[in-house]
Amino acid sequence: MNILFVSSEVFPFAKTGGLADVLGALPEALAKRGHTCSVILPFYKSVKKGGFSPEHFKSEKDFELYLLKKGNVNVYFVKKDEYYDRDQLYGTPQGDYPDNASRFGFFAKAVISAIPHITGVDILHCNDWQSALIPLYIKLFHKEKPEFRNIKTVFTIHNMAYQGLFGREAMDILGLPGELFIPDSLEFYGKINFMKAGIIYSDAVTTVSEGYSREILTPEFGCGLDGLLKTREKDLHGIVNGVDYSIWDPAIDKLIKANYDKKDLSGKVECKKDLTGQLGIKYDKIRPLIGMVTRLAEQKGLDIVAQSMGNLLKMGVDFALLGSGDEKYNNIFKNLSVKHKGHVGVYIGFNNALAHKIEAGADMFLMPSRYEPCGLNQLYSLKYATIPIVRAVGGLDDTVENFDPSVNKGNGFKFKEASSKEMLGAVKSAVAVFKDRKSWDALLRNSLACDYSWDSSAGKYEKLYADLQ
Ligand code: ADP
Repeated sequence: MNILFVSSEVFPFAKTGGLADVLGALPEALAKRGHTCSVILPFYKSVKKGGFSPEHFKSEKDFELYLLKKGNVNVYFVKKDEYYDRDQLYGTPQGDYPDNASRFGFFAKAVISAIPHITGVDILHCNDWQSALIPLYIKLFHKEKPEFRNIKTVFTIHNMAYQGLFGREAMDILGLPGELFIPDSLEFYGKINFMKAGIIYSDAVTTVSEGYSREILTPEFGCGLDGLLKTREKDLHGIVNGVDYSIWDPAIDKLIKANYDKKDLSGKVECKKDLTGQLGIKYDKIRPLIGMVTRLAEQKGLDIVAQSMGNLLKMGVDFALLGSGDEKYNNIFKNLSVKHKGHVGVYIGFNNALAHKIEAGADMFLMPSRYEPCGLNQLYSLKYATIPIVRAVGGLDDTVENFDPSVNKGNGFKFKEASSKEMLGAVKSAVAVFKDRKSWDALLRNSLACDYSWDSSAGKYEKLYADLQ
């Protein structure tokens, strides 16, 4: 099959979160299975900054199309500097860019103009709200054209909470007929909702874990779209994300101090020393170091972590956090690192190398998310023998099994309620196992035995695409 992926983030060209990792890996995994795979994203400032030089491919009326071959995947870039040549992808810590409706509406239209140049597309796979208008534009304006007639569309929801909501006036900017501004189509409580277009007008809808695909049908997790999603329940599929082990593997990772693998974990000690040194934490072999790498957003349960910090430290753990996002959390965690100097290390900003160093250098990895569509860090942690402590929600619940020391089964620690009490309870269990060398070794072995490579999930997407044809 000939598959074109559309995304606002693709690793290593542009990344704020897990979306980029998925789009950096899934097309390649499918290409390895014999499919022709391309991916298209905006030509952001980060592309040049990252040292990439895509080549000019085509001139269109109001943008330029660039192309770069990465592995077996053709990566296309929509170049329109007025919209994409900015320091961030979506906005600053103070808020979103005010012209995001125009920026991603333009992107959607540009992808449609590009499709005739990427000949023979069978499957158009859109991701999140930034590309959700595309299936609608095709149905409205292009369905009968020969280049579009046989294309099937798939829309993947990586996070229900980001729907792309804009004022009604954007309908004109987007070139959409006013009659679609109704609750049965694009309207959502007086606003335009980009994600609704993806859910209503795509041939199939997917999300990034089975657990989350069930949760989003409920008011608690559906973010107001659970009713709409129920109307598409038979076309809704949960396919768990995989890990790109050519990037996230301590045996070959060039960004960490020392490599290690399941036969010899001694390099992990070097990594912990390196990480603690870098973050101003006193290295202490017997104090477990808990790591977090996260967007600083409400979703991630950071308020619970902040309010529990004193009690966490009393349990004899140290804490390392890398995060970027909401200014409120930037300040809270910076203050905590000053208050608990030597035990709490914080780096505010986006730093890929440090993300790898935390995966390798920490003993445990904390994810107390309020909701989590899939979560990738817990999967990376398992590979790095860094034991995940997670809230039992969405993809976290699907991929982490509570460790039972009496039978040495399980790969991490889970808690149910999003509360300080329950989170501290799970950390307490983890610390108790950490102190019992034999149990901890068994847990590390279980963690390292997990396999979340893309092969199995790529096979599921392949089957879904084939069923649509
Ligand atoms: P989400 O997509 O909700 O942000 P995931 O766990 O699916 O959460 O993916 C997060 C990805 O983003 C991981 O690869 C993680 O290492 C990375 N990441 C998040 N915040 C940062 C940061 N501040 N610096 C570097 N990498 C980060």
